[in-house]
Amino acid sequence: MSETHAEVVVVGAGAAGLFAAIHAARRGRDVLLLDGAKKVGAKILVAGGGRCNVTHHAVHERDYHASSRPVVRNVLRSFTVQDTIDFFEREGVFLKREDTGKLFPTTDRARTVLDALLHAAEHSGVRLEHPRRVLGSKQTEMGFELQTSTTPVQARRMILATGGRALPKSGSDGLGYSIAESFGHTTTDRIFPALVPLVLPGGHAFRDIAGIALPAILTVVASTGKHLADTQGDLLLTHFGISGPAALDISHAWRDAFEDDHEVRILANLLPKQTIEETDASIRSAGGRTIQAWLKEHFPARLAGALLDLSGTPSQTICTHLTKSQRHAIRSCIHEAALRLEGDRGWHHAEVTMGGVPLSEVKWQTMESRVKDGLFLCGEILDVDGRIGGFNFQWAWASGYLAGNSA
Ligand SMILES: Cc1cc2nc3c(=O)[nH]c(=O)nc-3n(C[C@H](O)[C@H](O)[C@H](O)COP(=O)(O)OP(=O)(O)OC[C@H]3O[C@@H](n4cnc5c(N)ncnc54)[C@H](O)[C@@H]3O)c2cc1C
Repeated sequence: MSETHAEVVVVGAGAAGLFAAIHAARRGRDVLLLDGAKKVGAKILVAGGGRCNVTHHAVHERDYHASSRPVVRNVLRSFTVQDTIDFFEREGVFLKREDTGKLFPTTDRARTVLDALLHAAEHSGVRLEHPRRVLGSKQTEMGFELQTSTTPVQARRMILATGGRALPKSGSDGLGYSIAESFGHTTTDRIFPALVPLVLPGGHAFRDIAGIALPAILTVVASTGKHLADTQGDLLLTHFGISGPAALDISHAWRDAFEDDHEVRILANLLPKQTIEETDASIRSAGGRTIQAWLKEHFPARLAGALLDLSGTPSQTICTHLTKSQRHAIRSCIHEAALRLEGDRGWHHAEVTMGGVPLSEVKWQTMESRVKDGLFLCGEILDVDGRIGGFNFQWAWASGYLAGNSA
């Protein structure tokens, strides 16, 4: 069986692997980039609804969940948002900033981003081979031998950029963790879907009003009453539960808490622009209007109906005739609707992975393993996940850049 040789082999041609391969090749390395998928870059193409939210104008370690915030900060400082903008500009992709702070290509097409990366890889001499899945790897005298779906590969250095487990049909199914573990790495106890829609129990009034989107604040509250995390953004009610940026952003904190405490709730504030006291005063001064009419002034009609159901208030009750407990029930449903979620929608609907290889197991300056010389890790395989807004790609670019430059 003939073997392939390379100075540096990069496993995984997603955002992090492509970036690592490009930068290693630009340093003069002979780089082989392997990917198990038939079509590379699937996640780049679906990102941002097909527009690819490449980065965010302000990226901070606070925007991430990770086993070490200082490491995230140092990596992000090594390849900044401006570096990302400059890189893509040199490749002919101009980014525009939207009101949300997210940066997209001016073409509004993710394909532009992927094509630029593939072109940069080819132009710098990267040999991209796919579909060629890496099944395992072992140490040799000269470095690494990789078993692949075709012939073995010999390389002096190996960059693992296999992603996590989110969207497995894209090719990221978690095998990279086993490869890292075979060299002595560990993975966090919790590896779960994140940036994932959440499921409400069947029969919940919100499931019957799918399609309504509204601004909200979501707060994760433990059974002890302790507030664990909150987020503000658009909430989308769906036929299974909740989605939209606010639900996706809170999903990591909810799932993490749910593992320890099955009584954990999410409180939804559906009228964040005013306080609960202002809502109370507004209902009390609504005169002869019905509570249904008052609710319809603030919410879409179907949501107004669901709030009446949840609070158990007859729709035609005149606002000034509401009892104190009826008014309190309504204002609670508006400002602190308790959502007891059953679970999440799973890996097929998740954008990223919570957990992975702990950051303490890599040297942030180079992304080289502390466990195995010559092995580098970058991207989502590491225990880092960002909120919605381009933060996950910025982590992939920055960590991929460091790994590629150092390998
Ligand atoms: C629907 C969706 C939308 C998203 N939108 C955005 C967005 O707009 N902005 C943003 O910042 N982030 C977004 N993300 C998250 C972002 O796509 C990921 O965080 C990022 O792509 C991770 O990059 P990565 O290179 O580490 O891993 P991946 O992109 O998962 O790439 C890993 C690659 O490794 C390959 N691979 C895995 N195992 C093997 C193996 N054993 N052998 C060979 N190859 C292997 C896979 O085929 C894959 O190509 C989105 C994610 C999803 C699912």
